[in-house]
Amino acid sequence: MSSTVLRLGLWIILLVVAMYVLQQTFEDAPFVDFFAPAMLEKALVLGGLLVAGGIVLRLLERGAKAVTKNRCVVCKTPIEHGAIYCRNHLRRVLSRDDEITHMTRVRKE
Ligand SMILES: [Zn+2]
Repeated sequence: MSSTVLRLGLWIILLVVAMYVLQQTFEDAPFVDFFAPAMLEKALVLGGLLVAGGIVLRLLERGAKAVTKNRCVVCKTPIEHGAIYCRNHLRRVLSRDDEITHMTRVRKE
């Protein structure tokens, strides 16, 4: 969502710059009236607002993600979405599993 708004704002600014260049290049051409400075200014403001809004949205989205982040069951360290343990504890749990299966195998033999 935020990246769409941000991209739209950047595109509008890019178009305004392109129109401005066209206007400066073909000052006497009849179609230049279409790119009136007042209109370009409005479009530039709109683009700027969209970019600013996109940045704010992105920050909010990041903040929301940080708030809903999972925490390690053991040490409460923030971890990836869907994970149960942090890297250290996950490794410890996995190696403990390995030891258990290894031990049972040895016992059976
Ligand atoms: Zn942990």
